Amino acid sequence: MKTIGIIGGGQLGLMIAEQAHGLGVRAVALDPTADAPAFRVCDDHIVAAYDDAAALERLCRLCDVVTYEFENVPGEILIPLCEKYNIPQGYKPLYDSQDRLREKTNARNHGLQTPGFAAVDDEASLRAAVRELGLPAVLKTRTLGYDGHGQLVLKSEADIERALPLLTVPCILEEFIPFDSEASIVMVADRERVVSFPVGRNIHRDGILDLSIVPAAASQEVLGRMKAQSERFMRECGYEGILAIEYFIRGGEIYFNEMAPRPHNSGHYTIEGCTTNQFRELVRYLIGEPLQEPRLVAPTVMKNILGQDLDAARVVEREGHPNTYVHIYGKTESRPKRKMGHITFVGMTGEGYAKEWADRFVK
Ligand code: AMP
Repeated sequence: MKTIGIIGGGQLGLMIAEQAHGLGVRAVALDPTADAPAFRVCDDHIVAAYDDAAALERLCRLCDVVTYEFENVPGEILIPLCEKYNIPQGYKPLYDSQDRLREKTNARNHGLQTPGFAAVDDEASLRAAVRELGLPAVLKTRTLGYDGHGQLVLKSEADIERALPLLTVPCILEEFIPFDSEASIVMVADRERVVSFPVGRNIHRDGILDLSIVPAAASQEVLGRMKAQSERFMRECGYEGILAIEYFIRGGEIYFNEMAPRPHNSGHYTIEGCTTNQFRELVRYLIGEPLQEPRLVAPTVMKNILGQDLDAARVVEREGHPNTYVHIYGKTESRPKRKMGHITFVGMTGEGYAKEWADRFVK
């Protein structure tokens, strides 16, 4: 029986482990918190910091193959491990995504269109970037930003003063794209092929994903182009394993926003909404089984359950609705804005969700 190791024990690790079990594969997770969600379903676990080289080495020795669901594992720790153990996705996709400036430069170098951007380190470079890109613009920290943390939209010259406190760390200024919609694609690649999941439309609230609606509201031509360019990008970069890319769509234009070499929140809908899912295909890749091309079962909506919606989600679960799948991650502490679970509505459109379900959750 094969064993996969997962660096990170959050909900992504939990869902990787569940799918691993479905394929007859054991799972071991490493996470710094003793009550990490994935530990409940994993066959074994290690409580240790992500920069604890000895603990990571122990994980590698316990497993046939190792993946990561946490994207800020430091390179100085991971690179030597990748040389010694079977971590087939390697460090490169993490390295390329850990810094927004490097990430966008890499995307552009491999043929993807990005919003205009410039490095910002101090007031002078911020003012120069504003002159070059114009306003509105979005200032973001280059590293460790997620779910809209460490971001500021600059609308007028007066906002530059407000932005200065953010400049204690290296930043990037991006052209603001007044997009029609946001969309993402999840792909899994082995040496032979890339399979990609149907593109979903993502609706964010306060910078956090709220809804994924599949299929996305864009023309077949745009969606086909997004799929083709994403698969080409993954191949050209030499990435294997799993990769998610988030885009902005405006008219016929597609702008790369960011990428993540791990299962993606916007791909949770695939568990019930597709014939195979992002976690399962990742496990197949890891254990060297042929990948399966996913198909959408029916239009699907995924609603993220943050702390403020947990009680409502439990009620939906108790009511037991058909084609409605409630996932609660079992985190011990619930906080507003913390991802506590998600609900997948299969056979549901965005309009149907707005009419039948939206009122059940915090506005
Ligand atoms: P990010 O963490 O970069 O994904 O940004 C979080 C959210 O902020 C995105 O999902 C968008 O809704 C918004 N956002 C980020 N960058 C831009 C941009 N350049 N133009 C317009 N909206 C943006």
